[in-house]
Amino acid sequence: MPRLGSPALEFAMHILLVEDDDELAARVERGLQQAGFVVERAANGHDGLELALQPQMDMIVLDLGLPGKTGLEVLREIRARGIVTPVLVLTARGTWADKVSGLNEGADDYLTKPFHMPELIARLNALRRRSTGHASNLVTFEDIALNVSTGEVTRDGAPLDLTALELRMLKYFMQRVRHVISQGDLVEHLYSVDGMRESNTIEVYISRLRRKIGAEKIKTIRGLGYRFG
Ligand code: CA
Repeated sequence: MPRLGSPALEFAMHILLVEDDDELAARVERGLQQAGFVVERAANGHDGLELALQPQMDMIVLDLGLPGKTGLEVLREIRARGIVTPVLVLTARGTWADKVSGLNEGADDYLTKPFHMPELIARLNALRRRSTGHASNLVTFEDIALNVSTGEVTRDGAPLDLTALELRMLKYFMQRVRHVISQGDLVEHLYSVDGMRESNTIEVYISRLRRKIGAEKIKTIRGLGYRFG
């Protein structure tokens, strides 16, 4: 997976799709990918539960009729473990009782099959808006606010235009406020592509980022690296 120059990937929402109908799952996966989501698929309840426990999952689309473990069982276990990832359940037509059970077990929304992709995407976007309003997605430091889900950065409420690399750098710093970060750490984190590991360019990027977020926020610690805040 490319790790450089693509805020769309770095900040894309990860959707776990748990659906045992291969054809439907493939179609939904394609539609979600086209809408800019990163999709992980599971075809049974056991795999679905395992993947649902992964921290990178932002939302879960969960079929209720699954082999291995039913969708309701998966949902119950997810919530029992304190995982609050938004879940949209897929139910078969005419199974209104499933909908009710799903909502009772902690589903955030449901969709009845068959459905149109635009409706699923609209509902997921609505779920995302609701969940990204949560403080955990917003990292702030002084006048800077970074939404780690969407990659949006504001300074004093006004949007900041950062390159993908500046965004990665800022995110790295903001999650390590007052830590000393060596140039080596930054190089390691920012460039996963061989041939781009030129540590002298780090200083160039640091100075560009300083201009955008306020120079005083990133201090150079001579001989050791940098400190944010
Ligand atoms: Ca099914």
